[in-house]
Amino acid sequence: MIEIRFLGGCREVGKMGILIDTGTEKFLWEYGVNVQTNERPIQPSLNLDGVFVSHAHLDHSGMLPQLYRLGYEGSLYSDPTTLDLLSILLRDSIKIQKRSGEPLDFMLGDVKKLERSTRFLRPNEKEDFTTSSVSFHNAGHIPGSVMPLLESGGKRILFTGDVKFTDTQLMKGAQTNFKDIDVLISESTYSYTNHPDRKSLEDSLKKIVQETVYGGGICVIPAFAVGRTQELLLILHELGIPIYVDGMGIRAAEAMLRHPKSVKDHKKLEKAFSYARKVRNARERDRIIESPCVILTTAGMLNGGPVVHYISRLYERPDCSLVLTGFQVPGTTGRALLDTGKFTNGEIDVRPKMRMEFLDFSAHTDHDHLIEFYKKVRPKKILLIHGEKTEGFVKELQKLGFDAQAPKNGETFRIS
Ligand SMILES: [Zn+2]
Ligand SMILES: [Zn+2]
Repeated sequence: MIEIRFLGGCREVGKMGILIDTGTEKFLWEYGVNVQTNERPIQPSLNLDGVFVSHAHLDHSGMLPQLYRLGYEGSLYSDPTTLDLLSILLRDSIKIQKRSGEPLDFMLGDVKKLERSTRFLRPNEKEDFTTSSVSFHNAGHIPGSVMPLLESGGKRILFTGDVKFTDTQLMKGAQTNFKDIDVLISESTYSYTNHPDRKSLEDSLKKIVQETVYGGGICVIPAFAVGRTQELLLILHELGIPIYVDGMGIRAAEAMLRHPKSVKDHKKLEKAFSYARKVRNARERDRIIESPCVILTTAGMLNGGPVVHYISRLYERPDCSLVLTGFQVPGTTGRALLDTGKFTNGEIDVRPKMRMEFLDFSAHTDHDHLIEFYKKVRPKKILLIHGEKTEGFVKELQKLGFDAQAPKNGETFRIS
């Protein structure tokens, strides 16, 4: 009998943690943090045979170093690109924790221990344990993202991680040809809706950028450092307009370029990234806004980072634009701006006169593509996590004949 216990990430987007006990081995899949609320998953026993991480985003990985701080001595299994990106994100997370004044969850030494303890597993590679094996499969979400598949005692358990099935500029779509899946643990971030056509989104973005820059303004595009910044760079670099990248997106792009196979078209990313000008220090920020340009910068939800500086300088200019490019989580500065038209961050509390637009370049799949995947794979059981509106989707799947459930945090499922 296999036991699956959900430590977090159920009926929410954040703090992922899944404990799998095969009867002989115990594995932890993901150990993240809720980046907005700072909540953590239920802490597992450290008696583990291996820890697996699907990709570098902190809702899946942000608490991994704490396992080493608490005394875990075993391996972390990770794609090499994921570890490279994680090294950047976890160091940044320590800086943010220090600024908050709260006690630190982990120190630099714990991150270094994690790095030394990592064993690389690439897509389509398999790690054998005494009675089980775990293999990784391309998830199409961000560079390095994988879907882990556990095989144990004749049972096959697949976890989507965060997944996107269709191609983007940056990534090839996820693998879908799985057979004989007993349990599918599936993300469901966008299970309630479908994304607009990608090509028309790209065209809208290009149009806003051109209208702003040709009108003498500056187009500020807040974007997540890992994945989104590079995707937008690939869309915009051929317009021949000056593009600046500011913040962690620079180091994230450099990390991706060290792993050519992690992206769809390594040469194109290299070209786009070398075209972009990099803002390396705070002094440059005031200089670049003296002439029309595009600025890709963090934070994607406006909770700090260089974007705050740009908005504080440009908010009174109707010839400039601000384009939000990802889902804005409730409670963030970006969400408040969308809902109220007010930008409030620290000492700034203003109503920007900039043109404001929202275009969701999601790196997650959507309602129709999830159902298409389930129909193709026909898993015996579907457990839906990593979504805020899972219950309605469960009912819909049940009507379609699937055995689907939405676990709660702390709940255990037994598979025999
Ligand atoms: Zn993710
Ligand atoms: Zn996620």
